[in-house]
Amino acid sequence: MDIKLYNTLTRTKEVFRPIRPGHAGLYTCGPTVYDYAHIGNLRTYVFEDALRRVLEYNGIAVRHVMNITDVGHLESDADSGEDKMEKGARRTGKTAWQIAAEYTAAFRDDLGSLNILEPAVWCKATEHIREQVETIRLIEQNGYTYRTSDGIYFDTKKLPGYGALAGLANIEGIQAGSRVEMGEKRSATDFALWKFSPQGSQRQMEWDSPWGKGFPGWHIECSAMSAKYLGTLFDIHCGGEDHIAVHHTNEIAQTEAAYGTRLANYWLHGFFLQLGEEKMAKSSGEFLRLRLLADKGYDPLAYRYFCLGGHYRTQLRFSWESLTAAQRALENLRAEVGRLVLAAGGGGEPDGPAAAAGRSKFLDSVNDDLNMPQALAVLWDLLKDNGTSAVTRLALVREFDTVLGLKLLDLPSGDEVPPAIAALLEQRKQARAAKQWTESDRLRDEIAAQGFVVEDTPRGQTVRRKKFGE
Ligand code: AMP
Ligand code: ZN
Repeated sequence: MDIKLYNTLTRTKEVFRPIRPGHAGLYTCGPTVYDYAHIGNLRTYVFEDALRRVLEYNGIAVRHVMNITDVGHLESDADSGEDKMEKGARRTGKTAWQIAAEYTAAFRDDLGSLNILEPAVWCKATEHIREQVETIRLIEQNGYTYRTSDGIYFDTKKLPGYGALAGLANIEGIQAGSRVEMGEKRSATDFALWKFSPQGSQRQMEWDSPWGKGFPGWHIECSAMSAKYLGTLFDIHCGGEDHIAVHHTNEIAQTEAAYGTRLANYWLHGFFLQLGEEKMAKSSGEFLRLRLLADKGYDPLAYRYFCLGGHYRTQLRFSWESLTAAQRALENLRAEVGRLVLAAGGGGEPDGPAAAAGRSKFLDSVNDDLNMPQALAVLWDLLKDNGTSAVTRLALVREFDTVLGLKLLDLPSGDEVPPAIAALLEQRKQARAAKQWTESDRLRDEIAAQGFVVEDTPRGQTVRRKKFGE
């Protein structure tokens, strides 16, 4: 079955045709590790994870590469201002190297909490200086660079078709918008490949190069590292929508100038998470971390559910109400799946034609440019479809969850009740047998205070974790 993906480069939904049948090279621009990721950043990684899981569900082996930007990303996209890493180091009183390690670890924790699959390759800009210098040398040899007093720049006028990804109107907008920041640049869209360390001050992160001591520009790491790990032309390149006009446009320019290829065949961009009327950004507005959501009692996977509830090519507005709704929906989904597990009992074989029909509906959604909101609707319909056997439905839920990543089958079972709670339950059982109702109620409250709800059924006590807000 065809997978259709919206390609920013052609502005159409296209059938995905991998370079090597059955395989896909996927490069996703990773974080700049000068601070924690906010939930807006994480929306982009959830979308990319959904893409990878959909490809894999279709039987495609995905080689996923993600970079870590730990040097060279300046405050302004026009190559001016301070390096975000050096600024972050000053803010925290630590070294740039220390904060890079700490924020990288925090980022990977966040990905784990969101059940985002681990990339096959993590690559750090600072560990690939040689590769970046080599790529710049090729660009220079091919005649696309010039030198100013602060660095080596890419001459965008020399490259016919520069800016095709962004569209001409956007490129003209950038040119008009950044004239003030031109410095010695020949055109506003020209960008730094290598920046010299400032005279008279020592940077924490700097290296020797054929052009002088300094550090790489932000965009070159992605051209150099994707070439190393995926080849100079690979299948899919992703990032947030803000990357279209500058970062990805410049990655393409570098790779074309160095290797004569267009870098990737498909370019997918996730739209932003909004907070009120504002986009969520590190520099402005409220900075919400996944950890804060968890501290407030939300399951991080409720945030994943919330993200999947909006198509990646529409902006999504965050509110606590909608996150609460997502949390409730996820809990209900898990409760439904729990009932299904009981109903399916000891197992049996799924019904072949019914399973194929369910699978095909799900594939129709996810293969249509990752229509995850529709995929969730297909899942809900399936759970309520009493015409299909519980065994078949359960088998499909298991399959669908490999794409949704909501851990629907990681149900709290009796074994997960901590020993202390099990002991209280036993005491309560005995109190009830002895008709000590006051003691029984006291024990119920004690159990509740520890996050569990006891219910009395004709077959005895049952226990479950408290629901959100209960
Ligand atoms: P950064 O760490 O700033 O380089 O950004 C990491 C990723 O998050 C990039 O792919 C950005 O495009 C993306 N991003 C930044 N802000 C948002 C937002 N508000 N919503 C969704 N994605 C975002
Ligand atoms: Zn990149």
